Amino acid sequence: MPTTDTPVESQPFQAEVSELLHLMVHSVYSETDIFLRELISNASDACDKLRYEAIARPELVADGEPPKIRIVPSKKDTTLTVADSGIGMDRQELIDNLGTIARSGTRSFLSRLTEAKDGAGLIGQFGVGFYSAFMVAERIVVTSRRAGSDEVWTWSSSGGSGFEIARGSEDDAKRIARGTEIVLHLKPDTKKYLETYEIERVVGAYSDNIQFPIELVPEEGEPRQINSASALWQRSKSELKPEDYTQAYKSIAGAFDEPAMTLHYRAEGRYSYAVLLFAPSTKPFDLFEPARKGKGKVKLYVRRVFITDDADLLPAHLRFIRGVIDSEDLPLNISREMLQNNPQLAQIRKAVTSRVVGELESLAEKEPESFAGIWDAFGPVIKEGIYEDFERREKLLALSRFTTTTGEKRTLKQYIADLKPNQTEIYFLIGDSIERLKSNPRLESAAARGIEVLLLTDPVDAFWTSAPLDFGGKPLKSLSQGDVDFDPIPLLDEKAKDMPESNADEAVTIATIKASLGDRVSDVRSSQRLTTSASCLVAGSHGPDRELERLLSQQNRGARTKPILEINLRHPLVAAIAKAEAGSATSNDLSLLLLEQAQILDGELPEDPAAFAARLNRLVLQGMA
Ligand code: ADP
Ligand code: MG
Repeated sequence: MPTTDTPVESQPFQAEVSELLHLMVHSVYSETDIFLRELISNASDACDKLRYEAIARPELVADGEPPKIRIVPSKKDTTLTVADSGIGMDRQELIDNLGTIARSGTRSFLSRLTEAKDGAGLIGQFGVGFYSAFMVAERIVVTSRRAGSDEVWTWSSSGGSGFEIARGSEDDAKRIARGTEIVLHLKPDTKKYLETYEIERVVGAYSDNIQFPIELVPEEGEPRQINSASALWQRSKSELKPEDYTQAYKSIAGAFDEPAMTLHYRAEGRYSYAVLLFAPSTKPFDLFEPARKGKGKVKLYVRRVFITDDADLLPAHLRFIRGVIDSEDLPLNISREMLQNNPQLAQIRKAVTSRVVGELESLAEKEPESFAGIWDAFGPVIKEGIYEDFERREKLLALSRFTTTTGEKRTLKQYIADLKPNQTEIYFLIGDSIERLKSNPRLESAAARGIEVLLLTDPVDAFWTSAPLDFGGKPLKSLSQGDVDFDPIPLLDEKAKDMPESNADEAVTIATIKASLGDRVSDVRSSQRLTTSASCLVAGSHGPDRELERLLSQQNRGARTKPILEINLRHPLVAAIAKAEAGSATSNDLSLLLLEQAQILDGELPEDPAAFAARLNRLVLQGMA
């Protein structure tokens, strides 16, 4: 193999990679252990990929050696080597994977980092993959042979602005028959990772569940396997302890938190498969990234061989679930494309989805605290299912927790149990913050009757509420849309006393306001919602809620329709309009003010702020004169 005639080539890192490396090199993050977990996890992925590719190309594993991972400390050279006999990387893959193409996750990590105070904490939460090795190494040399190739390539970097790429030496070619060898030249203060007990401790803590043997090769003495290398999900529940599951979760999901829910079972019958799934207790920050949307991180195995983490094994609204489904019946050589329309997989997906929802239900009942944690982190995702998963809509609604005008973490079941006499609907109001919603005038009349109202502030709320829904036979009804009829529901005694009599002539007042507002609104009518405020805006009974319209128009999807202005005939401002002459300057000013106030209360600007200010000044001065 030619070694001297290929020059060493230097290449710059992509800007994001550089930024990330700078952070790693200068990291003050104290829990550096995770670098080993990341390297082992990559090695394990590489072994998985080899096994998968070898199904179609058995010649890749002609040597008959099952893939494994080796860890070799050398005090003499101050190096720690992590090597695998997995799929390996060719020249271009080394360049792409370790230098130029930052993962979308890495990018979002960096954008988060600029916002976060505790950047170091984020490293721990997130695990930044290969680059985390620069926390402990001042120089890294990666030498790799892609399975089936006769070329060996070397990538090296000191974590500065770039890396070198060169053909491997003859020695390299002899040493590496297949796979990747990563040599870390440790920083002076990270030499502890050369101690075998340290290595065993870290592997035990993070990587025991790796399915491939991890061999520790001490400087003296015999190599020995330091993990159990079994597929935990294949073992029976009775022989596993809670710690085993936590450990498995961390290593399978690459997570750092504790699982908030664990689901482990074996399905036997028409199809047999093992399921080991977890709900995390903290929210990953790329949960709403478009690339992530609709994609779960449940790994598909077939008879213990990893196939893909890209098959949609769970619906999008359960995409926070992590873990493994291991099928006994699917063919090993199933291609990733074939998985798309595989009826057996569709069956599995359906059954597992129901199991997960069932498990969430029983957790909500038996361990409300744990469920509350899941809901806080993933409620907005689960709610996507209310409009996407028709079959389980009722169940998902029942699982949902709401902040309402009477409390937090309320369920619809509780809501219904507390209905007021004659109340036949479940009321909700959508907005962008609980605080703002609580002072929303549309709540006044409901409050005067003690009616509970769901306060919805997640962006997804505008969507799932857009379909006609009911729960327990009671329709859900928006307080910013259509008519409400509170009349049959009695006023609370103490509130009733505060309500002034209305003496404005309804028809005349409305006609006057309509004349002033023209086509700025679609209608003007007397309100059932208000008790103390003068006016509010609502959407017509058909078409979208005002909040949904606003969200869509912010994203340039759909124009806004004209709202209905509702007025409170008992309010002095409205009474003043009734007294003013129709078409007079005063009645025009007052009418426009009613509209503009309502817009401001909705968090919007009046159409013409300058005219609004002038109008307000005019009226104030008039009052003072
Ligand atoms: P991730 O594992 O999340 O993709 P990493 O930063 O850990 O991100 O690794 C980047 C990429 O480098 C991997 O996706 C893989 O393609 C490649 N890679 C890293 N280590 C190895 C290895 N030991 N063998 C083969 N490929 C590897
Ligand atoms: Mg990785």
